[in-house]
Amino acid sequence: MVGTAEELKAAKGRKILGLFNMSNMSYEIDRPATQEPSLAEMTSKTLETLKANRKGFFAMIEGGRIDHAAHRNDAPSAIMDTLAFDAAVGVALDFAKKNPGTLVLVTADHETGGMGLIGHSKESKEYVGIDLKAIQKSTKSFELIMAQMGKKPTAGDFKAAVKQYLSIDISDAEAQLVADDPVKKGDPFNYGYDYVHSLAFVLRPYYRVGFASQTHTASPLMAFAYGPGSERIGGQMHNTQLFTVMKAVLK
Ligand SMILES: [Zn+2]
Repeated sequence: MVGTAEELKAAKGRKILGLFNMSNMSYEIDRPATQEPSLAEMTSKTLETLKANRKGFFAMIEGGRIDHAAHRNDAPSAIMDTLAFDAAVGVALDFAKKNPGTLVLVTADHETGGMGLIGHSKESKEYVGIDLKAIQKSTKSFELIMAQMGKKPTAGDFKAAVKQYLSIDISDAEAQLVADDPVKKGDPFNYGYDYVHSLAFVLRPYYRVGFASQTHTASPLMAFAYGPGSERIGGQMHNTQLFTVMKAVLK
């Protein structure tokens, strides 16, 4: 069993159990890199370890917290976890290129949040694309920002935290709106997390990212594939058909 990124790197043997956090792994934006390995590092170790199996192997690798960030409508955390997932896909593709006979299949079980990468800015009603510079300046997930606030944070607390961790100067009125939390008050069962959806609403023109939902959507998903069997992925498919594609490759 290993418990840190360094220990994982050094681990040998055919079976490795890695437990790096008492609860969920950190969002990429919050990840302490010496304690918790990146998804790419775990992918690399997984493939290198399973490769020893002469009969082949199946590995399920999930960027599991993209969903959590999208539930909270936390755009920077969702984007940074997606980039971490993209790096893990890169590791898998490099492995597949060196080990012909490997099928890499990339998909999702659902979309979350109905995330739109366009919005009006503070200066204009014209819709423009996401402000990536604003996203890049964010240094903490909404979840951790909330975790360090007291039970009843004030407008001043929000104004200071948003400035410190997200490098955004929200107005006093916007900070008050977050503290009043009208989104949660308006629909308390759906918007289950305190303050974060009101915060996301206020930040919308700063990031120019909008969310249609706080939960899973019915958007069709993409599936990408590389390697043997990838020719069977295309057009519109039912998700259960992916099982048949994987099964055929494993035979
Ligand atoms: Zn979910």
